[in-house]
Amino acid sequence: MSAVAAVLSAVTHSPRGSDLPTCPVCADSMVAAEASAYLADNIISYLWTCDTCGYGFVTKHSLKRLVCN
Ligand SMILES: [Zn+2]
Repeated sequence: MSAVAAVLSAVTHSPRGSDLPTCPVCADSMVAAEASAYLADNIISYLWTCDTCGYGFVTKHSLKRLVCN
């Protein structure tokens, strides 16, 4: 088995908030998203890749409106 503790030390882009997902395969907790995509108004999707088992998945997040009309 290999240790992966130090691999993600250089990650700079992570979604804000503490609502990080866990891997549905091995239940390891995700540290930071691989990529993010802006889908539509207030909707952002994140691509996650598990460092433990390599499983990739996408989550979608709705952002709260920051500007009042
Ligand atoms: Zn995993």
